[in-house]
Amino acid sequence: SAPTSSYLVGLVIGKYQTVLLGDPGPGGVPQHGHIPAHLLGDFSRDFARQPQMMEVFQELFGPYPFDEYAVVVTEEELDVPVEAQGLSLFGANHVDGARGSERLVAHELAHQWFGNSVSIADWRHIWLNEGCAKYAEWLWSERSGGRTAEQLASAAHRLLSSLPQDLRLSDPGRKSMFDDRLYERGGLVLHAVRCALGDIAFFRMLRGWGQLHRGGTVTTAAFTAHVARFATEPVDELLQAWIHGTTLPPLPGAERRATG
Ligand SMILES: [Zn+2]
Repeated sequence: SAPTSSYLVGLVIGKYQTVLLGDPGPGGVPQHGHIPAHLLGDFSRDFARQPQMMEVFQELFGPYPFDEYAVVVTEEELDVPVEAQGLSLFGANHVDGARGSERLVAHELAHQWFGNSVSIADWRHIWLNEGCAKYAEWLWSERSGGRTAEQLASAAHRLLSSLPQDLRLSDPGRKSMFDDRLYERGGLVLHAVRCALGDIAFFRMLRGWGQLHRGGTVTTAAFTAHVARFATEPVDELLQAWIHGTTLPPLPGAERRATG
């Protein structure tokens, strides 16, 4: 019933057991898993916290944009999980019974808000999808008792500073649109914006973004203009350096720590 980009249509054919994840309760989002029978035990441990994740993300990003959410675990191994509309596909290798891929469970769920409900106008803007989904991994970690977003941002920054700095987020080119550096730097943009805006304005900005563009398409320019509306200090220079530059800007957050 929602506008859907053609690349977000997924079809999976196989023998699956269907399980309900959590109890949606009145007004909650029904969440199902479609799993090969022999992976059910590991799956139920690995995806046990997804209903909690759904609650946290609805609090941070706004109401879940679709009627339901399903995950499929295929018999095959997949390089990476893939998001589809109201659905995510994981490979058998993403299930280990030890929550080894939980950050990816968060990543794919977050794409329902960032990428699916709000889609990009063309592939140059892919960092908007992947940066937001990467930052959602960090937020889930922070909210579920793992490393904080600040610690994860610092680790990402360390990693990027050791890699070639020739990738431009705003136009990565066809070959680099799924480069790991685009994900990490994209996550850092969100963290930089959070540090600049403060938590209250930052999450208001994120929820507003989802609400305003639900069922529509967006661009990098629309995002930077949207962020500017929630900032009390100018953010142009900051966004310019992170999104349109190639050199890695300093780790965000130092100012926030200094001022409390
Ligand atoms: Zn992704």
